[in-house]
Amino acid sequence: MLAYVCQQGWQEAGMTGLWWSAGTFLAFFTCVVLHELGHSLTAMRFGVHVRRILLMPIGGMAEFDRIPRRPSQEFLITIAGPAVNFAIAALLWCAIDLPGGWRLDEATNSLLDLGRTLLVWNLWMGLFNLLPAFPMDGGRILRALLAMRLPYLRATYWAVTIAKVIMVPAILLELYLGRYMVVAIFIFIYLAGEAEYRAVKRREFEEAQWREALLQHLAAPSAEEPPVIKG
Ligand SMILES: [Zn+2]
Repeated sequence: MLAYVCQQGWQEAGMTGLWWSAGTFLAFFTCVVLHELGHSLTAMRFGVHVRRILLMPIGGMAEFDRIPRRPSQEFLITIAGPAVNFAIAALLWCAIDLPGGWRLDEATNSLLDLGRTLLVWNLWMGLFNLLPAFPMDGGRILRALLAMRLPYLRATYWAVTIAKVIMVPAILLELYLGRYMVVAIFIFIYLAGEAEYRAVKRREFEEAQWREALLQHLAAPSAEEPPVIKG
């Protein structure tokens, strides 16, 4: 992707374009990594092992060994990602907001442009991820809030259902607008939500089976008589 972006920049404005495109691209993915680090470092504080952070053309994904069942922990782990984006945006805002009347050279102006672009991106990234479309961050936050009142599976069911209600019209709208990349991302989110709901359902079922088996085992008298020692 970096090579492609560099080539595009080169075609547009030669060497300057190449550097500019590469810098913008790397800055963007740095923000994505920082977002995922927000999730990961919070998760690690709760003892969750983070296997890796996966970077994809559509964004990043931190892979955890498990997702804590305690809603308050899932809530904090999830909200940490968008919080990083808003923090970056706030820092950029402070850095860019120079008092008027400064004469700036071209390089500084370009840098300020990059800063403004990143500011908008981070706001957008934070807000987009807060869409209540499970398994996006907003959907996970919604599940965590629901799980404070409802059983975990029920909370997941409602979070996924709300995601579908949002995603179906969004997919149709994006199809109509001809933005097929966005359509692909939305379908991916839709399917990922469905898959995670099934995984939660399967795990709940298995856990119930184990519990039942364990209870039966505890309740049933042992088949073997203990050895009797006669003196
Ligand atoms: Zn996130």
